[in-house]
Amino acid sequence: MQIYDHPTFQMACQQFDLVADLLEIPECDRDRLKFPKRSMVVALPIERDDGCTEVFAGYRVQHHLTLGPTKGGLRYHPDVTLGEVAALAMWMSWKCALTGLPYGGAKGGIACDPRTMSAGELERLTRRFTQEMIPFIGPQVDVMAPDMGTNEQVMAWMMDTYSMHVGHTVPGIVTGKPVSLGGSVGRREATGRGVAYLINRAMDTLQLDAAKATAVVQGFGNVGSVTAYSLAKYGVKIVGASDVAGGLYNPAGLDLDRLAAHLARHKTVAGFAEAEPVTNEQLLRLPCDILVPAALERQITEANAGRLRCRILAEAANGPTTPAADRIIAERPEIFVLPDVLCNAGGVIVSYFEWVQDLQSFFWTETEVAEKLFRILEHAFVEILKLSRTRGLSMRLAALRLGVKRLHDAKRIRGLFP
Ligand code: NAD
Repeated sequence: MQIYDHPTFQMACQQFDLVADLLEIPECDRDRLKFPKRSMVVALPIERDDGCTEVFAGYRVQHHLTLGPTKGGLRYHPDVTLGEVAALAMWMSWKCALTGLPYGGAKGGIACDPRTMSAGELERLTRRFTQEMIPFIGPQVDVMAPDMGTNEQVMAWMMDTYSMHVGHTVPGIVTGKPVSLGGSVGRREATGRGVAYLINRAMDTLQLDAAKATAVVQGFGNVGSVTAYSLAKYGVKIVGASDVAGGLYNPAGLDLDRLAAHLARHKTVAGFAEAEPVTNEQLLRLPCDILVPAALERQITEANAGRLRCRILAEAANGPTTPAADRIIAERPEIFVLPDVLCNAGGVIVSYFEWVQDLQSFFWTETEVAEKLFRILEHAFVEILKLSRTRGLSMRLAALRLGVKRLHDAKRIRGLFP
């Protein structure tokens, strides 16, 4: 299916093929596990603030419907394409299956630059996209959530547009909403908190002392900043951080509160006076115990994988490491990889909790949310580590093996339709 042609989709397919070989999945079963069930491409005309009309491209890919509704984020970024969204949807499928969530994977996106748009323009774009999606979404069909470039406000506009259409309030149509509209406490922090929890488990496994450990975080957005704060709570020193405008390094440790204040004032971490400026490429090669890519796909490639200077590579972003880089890292057993499908699963796990709370109109405390989140992550971490060790697989292959096998088994039992 050439419509999905994109380097990120090829990367997801290469990972799938490795696992399909491992599981000895018959060739004739592979395409229906790999290719999305349903994809929508829509033209989104909106009025800009200057009175002109501009048309944006919007995408939604629902990877499979075998285990329940589809679930996945909505990304606003200039480089969004159908192929990238399809890859992200496929990874969501493996992530949900390996953590035991009753969902298929999905992802959406609009090719736009939210940093250059006013709140009014973003609202019109979001409402128009939601309107176009109405025949294909629903709390039992497909449920969206925030991803790069989107946030609670975007989810609130989506929920409102859908609710106005059906004539009553439907909180379960999206997750990652404001708590005042039926969002879950702890959802905003869930992905970063989960990343930090798993890094802490990896430090235990490697017998690294958190109080002496250092971390570098690429992408100081929702996931990256919460990961940094949560790691700091475990005692880890954050020595590097970045965003799209550039990076920072201070071997003595960054003061996170002052960095957050700088970010709030200047809309970027770049230019923070208490650190030396570095490029994003240099940032990935800084000496540290923990490297956390928390921005885009394909950041760790064959060009820099041999030069990483970390002990733990914690993939908070989706797809930050290419298969070619994976092969180089496989020759470097000193690096422990927390693969994306496990590492950032905290987000979809608490999205699942939010959906369950909305369906029941019965809400949990933050302690309940955190305990249930850590229980699921702990179980997945232990299961994947055991599989990795007993079968001699990388952590990525072990995680994907669990996810792909669960879906393959379900598809075999159900039959050809879903
Ligand atoms: P966000 O928009 O809040 O933050 C993204 C950050 O990355 C920003 O600081 C941005 O400036 C930076 N960035 C963008 N392009 C960059 C580049 N080329 N180099 C360096 N930094 C760059 O997004 P987020 O929600 O934190 O998502 C980050 C990653 O985590 C994405 O890969 C997303 O798919 C993944 N993820 C997010 C969630 C979630 O709950 N939000 C859940 C699972 C996975």
